[in-house]
Amino acid sequence: MAALPHPPSVLSFEDARHVVEEHAAKVRPASLESVDLLGSVGRVLGKALAADRDFPPFRRAMRDGYAVRAADLTRLPATLEVIAEIKAGAAPDDMPSQIGPGQAAAIMTGAPTPPGADAVVMVEYTSLSGNQVTLTRGVTSGDNVVPVGSEARQGQVVLPPGTRIDYSAIAVAASVGQDSLWVFRRPEVAILATGDEIVEVNTEPGRHQIRNSNSYSLAAQVQAAGGNPKVLGIARDEAQSLRDRIEQGLRCDLLLLTGGVSMGKYDLVEQELSGCGAEFFFTGAQIQPGRPIAFGRAHGKYFFGLPGNPVSTMVTFELFARPLQEALAGMTTSKLIFLNARLKSEIKTKTGLKRFLPGMLSGEFERAEVELAAWHGSGDVVSTARSNCFVVIPADRERIAVGEWVAVMLR
Ligand code: AMP
Ligand code: MG
Repeated sequence: MAALPHPPSVLSFEDARHVVEEHAAKVRPASLESVDLLGSVGRVLGKALAADRDFPPFRRAMRDGYAVRAADLTRLPATLEVIAEIKAGAAPDDMPSQIGPGQAAAIMTGAPTPPGADAVVMVEYTSLSGNQVTLTRGVTSGDNVVPVGSEARQGQVVLPPGTRIDYSAIAVAASVGQDSLWVFRRPEVAILATGDEIVEVNTEPGRHQIRNSNSYSLAAQVQAAGGNPKVLGIARDEAQSLRDRIEQGLRCDLLLLTGGVSMGKYDLVEQELSGCGAEFFFTGAQIQPGRPIAFGRAHGKYFFGLPGNPVSTMVTFELFARPLQEALAGMTTSKLIFLNARLKSEIKTKTGLKRFLPGMLSGEFERAEVELAAWHGSGDVVSTARSNCFVVIPADRERIAVGEWVAVMLR
C-alpha cells in the first residue's frame, strides 16, 4: 500500500466536532429558489422576512371581559356603565370613540381595546345586571392588553435567513403575508459505499457478502438534514474504481464515503482521496462507534470518509457530517446539545473513548429514564433500529450507577 501523504490525526470528540463547526461557519450555501408556503416545511429560509405591519396591529384584548379605565377600580367592588360590546374583528366604526370615566365596554379575546380603556378585567371577576357591571378585582393599566407593535414593529426582521421552516416559523411567514418563500436550494450530497463484500439490495448475496445498507441509512439522514442524496452505488476496494467514483462524487456539494477508512490493507479511501489532492482536517476521533472518520476537502468540496460499520456510519454522520451539510443547506450552525435522563440499569465500560451507544429512552413527562439497548457492536443495525436514542458515555467513566444522570442524543 502506498504511504499516506498526510500524518493521521486522531482528535478527541470535542475537538473534531469543533473543527467541523469552524468549517461549517464559513460555508457559503447554495443559490435560492422560490417555493409555495405549504411546500416550505423543512426548507431553509434564504431571505430575511420582515413584519409588513405592527404586531399586533391594534391593542389586542387578551381575555374575555370588560375594557375599563384602571383608575376607576381603585375602590372595590366598583360598578361601571357598559356602553358597548366589542367582538374580535370590530372595526373602529363599530366601537365607541371613547370609554369615559365610570364607563366600560364588554370585550372579547382578540378584539381591539377601545380608546380611553387601558386594561381588561376578566369576565370571571364581574357580574352584569342590565347595563351595569360590578367588578370585584382591580387591574393595573395595561393588564390583559397587548400593546401595538409589542411582538414586532413594522419593518423589523421576524425570521432571519438560515431559519429552518418548522411549524412556528411557517406561522410567522403566514402572519406577514408570504404565500411563497425564497429558500436555499437543497445541497446535492453524493453517497459512495465501498467494499468488495458489499452487494446491492436487489442482489442475492453469497454467504460471504453483505447487502449495502449504508447508502440507504445515509440517504435518509441526508434528507432529514435538508439535503438531496445522490447515491453513487458501490466502489470496489481497488484504486481505479475508487478514484473514478470519488471524482464523480466531488462534483456534488458534499461527498460521503463509507467503508475503507480503517487500517486494513484494502482500506484505500484515504489514499485515493489524497490522490485527488485532498487536504485532511482529521482522520479519526476518539469515539465508539466510529473511531476511523476522515474529514477533508478536495477540489474545493468537503468530504467525509465514514467508517463502514453500519452503526458507526449513522453515528458519525450525526456527529460530524450533519452540521456541515446543514451549513451547505444554508442553516445557521448550532451547537450540539445533549439532554439528560436518569440511568435505568448500570453501565460498565472501558475508558479512553467517548461512546455513543444505542439506548432506550422511557419514562414519562419530566421522568425520562434511559438504558442501553442490548447490542452486538457497531454492525448491529437490528438493535439500533429498535432503540430510540444514543447514550453518551464520557471517555473517563468505567461504571455509571443506576439513578445517575446521563447524557442522551435524541434521534
Ligand atoms: P470497513 O470500514 O470497510 O472495514 O467496513 C467495516 C464493516 O462494515 C465491514 O464488516 C463491512 O462489511 C461493513 N460495511 C461496509 N460498508 C457497508 C455498507 N455499505 N453496508 C453495510 N455494511 C457495510
Ligand atoms: Mg471495507
